[in-house]
Amino acid sequence: MSLDYDRILGYTQVMNVLVVGGAGYIGSHVSRELLDRGHKVTVFDNLSTGLRENLFPDAAFIHGDILRYEQLTGALRGNDAVVYLAAFKAAGESMEKPEKYSQNNITGTVNLLNAASEIGLKYIIFSSSAAVYGEPAYLPIDEKHPANPENYYGFTKLEIERFLSWYDRLKGIRYASLRYFNAAGYDVKGRITGLEQNPANLLPVIMETACGMRKELAIFGNDYETPDGTCIRDYIHVSDLAAAHVLALDYVVNNNKSLTVNLGSETGSSVLEVLETARRITGQPIPSRIAGRRPGDPGKLTASAGLARSLLGWKPEYSDLETLIKTSWEAYRKQ
Ligand code: UDP
Repeated sequence: MSLDYDRILGYTQVMNVLVVGGAGYIGSHVSRELLDRGHKVTVFDNLSTGLRENLFPDAAFIHGDILRYEQLTGALRGNDAVVYLAAFKAAGESMEKPEKYSQNNITGTVNLLNAASEIGLKYIIFSSSAAVYGEPAYLPIDEKHPANPENYYGFTKLEIERFLSWYDRLKGIRYASLRYFNAAGYDVKGRITGLEQNPANLLPVIMETACGMRKELAIFGNDYETPDGTCIRDYIHVSDLAAAHVLALDYVVNNNKSLTVNLGSETGSSVLEVLETARRITGQPIPSRIAGRRPGDPGKLTASAGLARSLLGWKPEYSDLETLIKTSWEAYRKQ
């Protein structure tokens, strides 16, 4: 493997990192970023939603399940750190099938923490979510905002953060909990091509409509108190998220300290703005209709990411709407 020493200089050290959920949408981008930074990566994934085509030849792969404790412990051995992204993430579904979310998201994490504790692994980078906050009491949302999740998915993420904090105190496991806002876009170099199956998020639904895989986009409500009546969200490019994972790993290792930070672009875009930009960039009509509000959707959500900027030296580079949509379209157009 050829290492880019200029980029690695200033970084902690080359580490062996297990990326649990590394074949998924965000996990594959994180794996790519770790590899680009010279780290040694093993992807651990049960391929329930992850895709083989998201695996890289320069990473090892273990087809395994977080619910199988022995398998997970075996996979963790020999690693310095774990990036933990294996979770179900559909907020709507979590309200109908809490058992599924308890089993995978919570039991899976308890397995991971116990396995890490058993083998003495010290560093965990965890995918958390802005869903831990619930209905915003003020904007932009910073990390001091009260955490009152509105859906079971957000509850699982918050519970896991609490487990992490206890294992930090009791077992000295240092963690970074990264509260993602709306992840979108694809690798700017076009190296990741696996498309999510049956997506529910706005950008992939728009892309599927642009490709003719769906008839139309249902816009969930145009009567919110926003300038055009549609919901405003903070979209963050998945490559910017990936960079934050590597910086967070450096932070916990160098400072021997845990942290919890928001990752967002600090810019709000409405559903109509995203749709219009997508129409322009793709040149496709992307039919749409106004549908009813989706239960539990706040009108506006934007992040304050000042803590990630100051603690990690992180700065989003690709999170403007143009780049978010162009890189997504590149991935969808190819297929
Ligand atoms: N949205 C929409 N139609 C869709 C999917 C999403 O209008 O088919 C809207 C949704 O109401 C929200 C925004 O797009 O305001 C982003 O939704 P997404 O599910 O991507 O992320 P969330 O904000 O729920 O985490």
